[in-house]
Amino acid sequence: MERVELSVALRNNRSLKNKVESESGVVLSDCYQCGKCSAGCPAAFAMDYTPRQVIRLLQLGLGGEALKSHTPWLCASCQTCYSRCPREINLPRLMEAVRQEAKRRGIIPERKVDIFEKAFLDTVEKYGRAHEMGLMVQYNLRTLQPIKDALLAPPLLLKRKISPLPLKIKDIDSVKNIFAKVRNEGGSKQ
Ligand code: SF4
Ligand code: SF4
Repeated sequence: MERVELSVALRNNRSLKNKVESESGVVLSDCYQCGKCSAGCPAAFAMDYTPRQVIRLLQLGLGGEALKSHTPWLCASCQTCYSRCPREINLPRLMEAVRQEAKRRGIIPERKVDIFEKAFLDTVEKYGRAHEMGLMVQYNLRTLQPIKDALLAPPLLLKRKISPLPLKIKDIDSVKNIFAKVRNEGGSKQ
């Protein structure tokens, strides 16, 4: 009985599996579940599934569960897992592919992460670099907590750790072209 259910799940999962594999360049069957990635992941303590388990879900045809997981949204793309993996599996890219696919399907388990990424990319598209002050304001407004961390701003400004005004890079058009190209190819800002 269990075997039948598993084969149905595998069939349903095939297109998701193909998609995340082609978008990330990862071959899921390369992972032999040694767990070195999870053991070194600095964000694993906050995740519902460890990085190894996310791969296992996809291998087993339980991609729907992987799409609902908070793990791809909490991945900091620090590359620790990638550098430790004996099979050279690019887990950060896989996490990104799972996150993008979840978002395309309207599954956003970590709203604040999504809002933060959007705000960050907005400033990069506008100025060619991050503008911390603008990012902070955008994030606070979009998460409906306008005065969050407001007391931190004056000392940071006085010590010139953040700038009140954005600094635009010279060749901003090149950056805008990158964003336009990504959109033309079907991508979106996170
Ligand atoms: S370290 Fe690599 S092979 Fe081992 S479980 Fe993680 S992804 Fe799979
Ligand atoms: S890239 Fe993501 S999954 Fe890999 S170790 Fe860093 S936080 Fe963990």
